[in-house]
Amino acid sequence: MAGAADGRKVVEVLHELATSDIHELVKKASMKTGLFKRRLVHVARRFGAIRRRVDFSSLKLNQLMKSLEGTIIMDEALKETLHKDLDMANTERVLKGIVAGEIRVVRLETRNQPSPLSRIGLERISMKSDLIPAEKMRLILIESTKARIMNEVKTFVCVSCWQYADMIRVKDLPRRLKCRNCESERIGILSQADEDLRKIQSRKGRPLSEREKWIVGQARETASLYEKFGKVAAYVLAGKRIGPAEAEGILLEEDKVSDRLFELIMDAERQALLERF
Ligand SMILES: [Zn+2]
Repeated sequence: MAGAADGRKVVEVLHELATSDIHELVKKASMKTGLFKRRLVHVARRFGAIRRRVDFSSLKLNQLMKSLEGTIIMDEALKETLHKDLDMANTERVLKGIVAGEIRVVRLETRNQPSPLSRIGLERISMKSDLIPAEKMRLILIESTKARIMNEVKTFVCVSCWQYADMIRVKDLPRRLKCRNCESERIGILSQADEDLRKIQSRKGRPLSEREKWIVGQARETASLYEKFGKVAAYVLAGKRIGPAEAEGILLEEDKVSDRLFELIMDAERQALLERF
C-alpha cells in the first residue's frame, strides 16, 4: 500500500467483500487457482477418470476442467480445496470484524519489504503452491531482512559521560565504537534521534521526566549488550520492536552475523507484531 488513499481503498474493497456472498466468491476465485487444478487432477486420478501417469500442460488442464464441469469429481476437488487449503470460517470472521469496526486495517510502513503478516502469507503460499521452493523462499526472506537491517540508522550514545551521540547506519558501523569525549566503550543503542537526547545531555541536575528516565534505562541496557556482543548487538537492535530483553535472547543463541541471526530477528519481529495486535 502506497498511501492513505490506498489504505482507504483496501478498506472499501474489504467492506464490499464482507457484505457479499463470500462463499460464492471464494468458490469462484479458488477454482481459478493452480492449487485447485492440482487437486482436481489428483481427485480425477483417484476416481479413475484419468490415467495416473498422464502429465498435464496448462492447456490440457483447462480442457480437463471443462470436461469435468458439474461432475462429482469437480465437487469433490472443490470441497477438498475449501477444506484443506482455505480457512473460510476465519476469513469470514475477519471480514465481518472489519465491517463491524472490531478489527482495524492499519497501514504499516515497511519500506518495500513484506510486512510480517504478508511474510507469513508468502511463506504459506510458497509452501502450498511450490511456486517458490521453501528453501529459496527462506533465502529470499533472509536477504530482504539483511538488507533492511543494514540500512537501518540507530543512535549511539555514550552512557558514561552522555556528551557523545551519533546517528550511524548499521552497515557503516566501525568494528568498535568509542566515545569521542571520554573514550568509554559503554555505548547505548537507541531508536530516538540524537536531537531527542540533547535535552538529557544538557539537563545539568534537572530531574529527568518519566520518558527521559525510560530512554536512559534503554541506553544503559543496550550499552551492556554492546559491551558484551559488540557490533552484532546493533544488528539485532535494528530489528523492528526488538527491545534489549528480546535482543539478549537472540544474541545468546547467535552472536555472529549469519543467516541464523537474521532468521532469529525475523521470528522476533513477527512475534512482537502478533503480540501488539
Ligand atoms: Zn563518553
